[in-house]
Amino acid sequence: MLKQYFENLYTGSQPEFFKRASLAMDQEEKLFVVTANPETMMIGVQDQDLDAVLCKPSTVIVPDGIGVVKGAQSLGIETQGRVTGVELAAHLIRHAGETNRSIYLYGAKEEVLQALVSRIQREHPGAVIAGCRNGYGQDDDEVFEEILRLKPDVILVALGIPRQELLIDRWLPRFSKGIFVGVGGSFDVLSG
Ligand code: UDP
Repeated sequence: MLKQYFENLYTGSQPEFFKRASLAMDQEEKLFVVTANPETMMIGVQDQDLDAVLCKPSTVIVPDGIGVVKGAQSLGIETQGRVTGVELAAHLIRHAGETNRSIYLYGAKEEVLQALVSRIQREHPGAVIAGCRNGYGQDDDEVFEEILRLKPDVILVALGIPRQELLIDRWLPRFSKGIFVGVGGSFDVLSG
């Protein structure tokens, strides 16, 4: 339920969250981040499966949209501002580049995906692209079987809400490490 989502809400600053995510990557932890906007929460209220994901204590929800920051405020929860999906994805790619970690990219159109892969290879040559698949006409489970086999350090899933969250949540128990983030339309932004 809506109120419970706010119990999982990260209330610190974006730079602090980036530090936490970097550390989790360095220490090969498992972390699932939901970058939430008001739409995420409204879908959660109506969709039992997304509701369960958002209520799980292990799910970390960050306030991507200003509406979530304001919603928290109205419940008396002070946050230190937004943590956006686009900037989080950019940070994880940067940190992977600095520490030679691997990334798997799933989602968006093929040309967007290829443009993003080229950009990562050009700007963050230390990052290893473990694999990538566009988000159209794929069998989600087949893709995740590949991800499980490759054991990347960062898994960015850009399929939109709630498909990306439900997919990550369903497969998460089978992984022992990885920073998993549902990043929505971020590949479209970061590829340009
Ligand atoms: N997408 C996809 N497969 C689909 C539907 C969408 O890969 O079947 C991608 C789409 O290309 C876009 C992302 O999912 O890159 C969703 O972006 P949108 O802005 O709709 O999501 P939001 O950020 O609102 O969750």
